[in-house]
Amino acid sequence: MKKINLVIFGATGSIGQSTLAIVKKNPKLFNIEGVTCNSNIKKLIKIAKEFNIKKVGFNSQKIKNKSEKISSRLKAYDNIKQFQEIITPKTDFIIFAISGLEGMNLLLQIVCLGKKIGIANKECIISLGKNLFNLANKYNTEIIPLDSEHNAIYHLSKYNNYTFNSVTITATGGPFRSLKLSKFKDITIKDALKHPVWKMGKKISIDSATMMNKALELIEATSFFDLSPEKVNAIIHPQAIVHAMINYNNGSTTALLSQPSMQIPIASLFFEFETYSKVNKVLDLKKIKNLEFYDIDNKRFPAIKLGYEVMNEGGLFPNTFNYINELLVNKFLNGSIKFTDIISLNRINLDKTFNKNSNIANPNINDINNINCWIDKNLFIG
Ligand code: NDP
Ligand code: MG
Repeated sequence: MKKINLVIFGATGSIGQSTLAIVKKNPKLFNIEGVTCNSNIKKLIKIAKEFNIKKVGFNSQKIKNKSEKISSRLKAYDNIKQFQEIITPKTDFIIFAISGLEGMNLLLQIVCLGKKIGIANKECIISLGKNLFNLANKYNTEIIPLDSEHNAIYHLSKYNNYTFNSVTITATGGPFRSLKLSKFKDITIKDALKHPVWKMGKKISIDSATMMNKALELIEATSFFDLSPEKVNAIIHPQAIVHAMINYNNGSTTALLSQPSMQIPIASLFFEFETYSKVNKVLDLKKIKNLEFYDIDNKRFPAIKLGYEVMNEGGLFPNTFNYINELLVNKFLNGSIKFTDIISLNRINLDKTFNKNSNIANPNINDINNINCWIDKNLFIG
């Protein structure tokens, strides 16, 4: 059997680890050509050894001088600008699991290679919008969503060709779903990083706590499936068993259910539903018993309402909302702002940005970079 040649960008992170877990269960099926990280070179080298990988990439300038630590057996790429060179004509699949917007240029390069890309990173999808999908079409590149909700929509629509009316994605509600509103002002970094269901990287964990993650995912769904804002909605579902639903005009809804494990959507990239049985968690609804669904409380989680406003404005707004969020999450993680500031300052900075800059209906990549540069210089944090 021909091996699947794979490159994993962001191999040391949570999605990278889930991908490697699938490879480990099917060692004869995969050949990993290369793996990358930002700065966790120790972990990267361990991965390279374990999976017999020849090419490693890292990005952080802080560790540039440590490249001599990398054995001569390995070819090292010491800047994200070189990561594209890890891909070969033989590469079948690329996992794009670098967090945040730093990987945007890399994604723009690899989307022109006509490969299959399993994309976990939602930030780049939101900021690039149509620019990304137009390039993918032009170069015959297939982009498959790994984010569990979007992966569920992708499969629900793949296995059922009916035209649908709308999609619903679910949210666990994060660590503060039932926290008293008056306590939100005291939330610490440690509290916010503790997700009740998923074990994820820091950026997405904070986004889940503010529910910005769900606002971003609603935008991601409009981009991925070419839907208008009124066709996407989100509800709270603490058990994280139902990932997404597709709603039809005749009142029927189809839903995709599974245990909350990122290995399931990632494995669906390589294996058809009927051929893969090495899942770690099989769904047993008798054990779960209750599946609950609630409305999202806009007072606790103002990100969702702001997300709809942003979607309705369109143009440069989704990128701006997303970019400001990334800067503010970093500010929260370094202790410069409070948890509740993340969304309130986003609204303030959105207003400020579009008071000084015009929105552009169909922004190109230069327009996106220009506005992000403006935000870098003018971010207001009080
Ligand atoms: P992690 O923080 O766990 O991992 C991020 C990975 O990207 C690491 O390998 C990290 O390297 C690397 N990386 C980070 N910054 C840079 C940079 N500037 N240059 C090069 N490499 C970099 O994140 P997750 O795996 O949780 O998430 C990855 C993406 O997938 C995010 O966009 C997230 O929104 C999305 N996603 C994640 C889900 C999850 O369950 N984790 C679910 C759905 C979507 P290093 O280890 O050296 O820092
Ligand atoms: Mg998700």
